[in-house]
This record gives sequence, C-alpha cells and structure tokens, in this order.
Amino acid sequence: MAFAHELSWSVSRSGTFASCKRRYYNDYYFSWNGWDRSSPKERTEAWRLKKMTRMPMLAGDVLHQAIAEYFDQLSEGNGMSEDELIGMAVTKLRTGYKQSRDGQGLWRSRPGQSVHLAEHHFKEACIDESTPAAGDYGKKYVERLQTGGHFFMTSPELESLHGLSPSEILCVEGRDPGDRASRDMPTIQLFDTKVFAIPDFACKTVENGRDHFWIYDWKSGSPRELDEFQLGVYTLYAMEKWGATPEQVTCVDVYLTSGELRAMCHNQAEIDSILARMEESLGEMRSMHFDAGLQAGSPDDFPMTPPDSFECGTCNYRELCGRP
Ligand code: SF4
Repeated sequence: MAFAHELSWSVSRSGTFASCKRRYYNDYYFSWNGWDRSSPKERTEAWRLKKMTRMPMLAGDVLHQAIAEYFDQLSEGNGMSEDELIGMAVTKLRTGYKQSRDGQGLWRSRPGQSVHLAEHHFKEACIDESTPAAGDYGKKYVERLQTGGHFFMTSPELESLHGLSPSEILCVEGRDPGDRASRDMPTIQLFDTKVFAIPDFACKTVENGRDHFWIYDWKSGSPRELDEFQLGVYTLYAMEKWGATPEQVTCVDVYLTSGELRAMCHNQAEIDSILARMEESLGEMRSMHFDAGLQAGSPDDFPMTPPDSFECGTCNYRELCGRP
C-alpha cells in the first residue's frame, strides 16, 4: 500500500530540523518508501539506517512498554508488581540486544520489526564482547531500568496513579487503555497540518468539581530544552481532544532515572507563545518541503553539520555522510 507523503509536525521532527538538515532529509524524505522493495536501493538503505536504534533509546523504549503494560493491566482491574515491571523491561532489553548481535539478516529484511543497535552496526568499542566493556555497558542500562522502574512504583509523587480507576485512565501511549493491538498514531490538526503528539499516559480526575486532565511523559534521559516545549504541545492536544481549557491541564515530565518531576500548567498567553513557536517551525519546514513519494530531492539542499559536530557522534547516517 502506498502512503501519501505529506508534511506533518512534531516536537522531535522540529528538533531534528534544528540540529541537522541532512539528518532531517534522510529521516523524512530520502528514506521515504524505503520499505517498498521496488524503491531504489539507496533509499531502502536509508530506511534501514533510520530504523536503527541505540542502547539509551532501546532502554527508554522497553521501560515505556513495561509502564504501558502496567496501566493496561490496571485498566483491566489487574495488578503488576515492581519485580514484574522491571523483569519485563530487562527481558525486552536483553532480547533486543541479542537480536541485534545475532540477527543482522532480520534487520536487513525487516528493519521495522527488528532491533538493530547502532553500537553493533558501527562496531563501537563500548559493545565489544571480547573486552569487559560490553558487559559494563549492558549492566549500565539494566541498572537504569531497575532505578527507573523502582522510582515509578515507589515515588510518593506518583502514588495517586497506582490507585486510578479504569474510567479515569484516558490513554496509554496515545491509545485507548487495554487496546494493545492499536496501531493508530494520535494526531491533532493545527495550521492545516497534522501534528503528532502522543502522550505516554493521560488520566482525568475531578478537582473542585471540574474535570482536570493529567498528561505524563516518562523520560529515561536527562532534561532537554525541548521537553518543556513538548509539554505545551500536550496541553494543546488535551484542548483539542478533550475540550479542556489550558488551566484544566497539568503536564508532567517524569525523569525516571534521576527521580525528578517537572510539572507545568499553562495559561492562555503561554499557549499562544507555544503556537507561535510551532507556526514558525512549521513555516521553515514548509519552505523546504517536497513530495518525497514523487522524487528523492537533492541532499545538497539540506546541508550537513560542520565536520566533528557533536550531532554526528551518535547519528545513524554517518556512513552516508562519510563521518567517522
Ligand atoms: S552524520 Fe552528521 S551531518 Fe550526517 S546526517 Fe548525521 S548529524 Fe547530519
């Protein structure tokens, strides 16, 4: 099935656009249709590279999946212990690691359905199993899962979430709670453009007789400038999806491994400023947009970052750019 290539917007897409135009081109244009076997092989290869992950991302992903399972179980009236939650995350991490180490063929044939770590792809020293480095590297991420899972289950600031009734849970990873098979990517429409904003978790309580909407973003890394921007976009999501006013929405970044929470409740002036920032970002993207379903475009229109840039160090496209 052919998908229409259209301009869409998300906070992460705007971040990629700001950090490296070439990476943005590879992610959203050159790799387009790379899943189609009839596509030129360079575009298929770009698609494969796009689907690679790294251990920090894999660890964050499996922790998200385990927390999502916790809330799916809660919405079905079941419980899940801390050991079960952490065990699920660690098992998924180990399974992904082994698949990446042993299953290169699977990644080549089905990049969207397999784990392939950039650390393995680029033969990085941190993952060399002939030295103690690989064991230390893996252990670091297992410990992150243990720390993050423990904080999620025991933090007093998250205690109220464990007592939610099924009817108070609005969404888990952007989908209906318990609907594990859903492939829908929730979007809202702003500035005539599809905006992706997928809350990790949302619930509704009644405060002073009025509905109040809570949106949680689970973070396994350190705080970034874009995190606050993302919370503003979640407030817009709640306004669009649930008819909330800004004052009825609280968005919370939960930094699971450091045990830090940052909550924001926006007023209308702040929402207007977030909309202005989105509109500016979208305008810049639109000025470079073309239909990647019809042509591959020119990479020269999307400049690389300067040599030795920080961004290149962990980028999936290093081999396309000739960067070490
Ligand atoms: S390797 Fe560097 S220049 Fe190339 S896409 Fe990645 S960040 Fe950009």
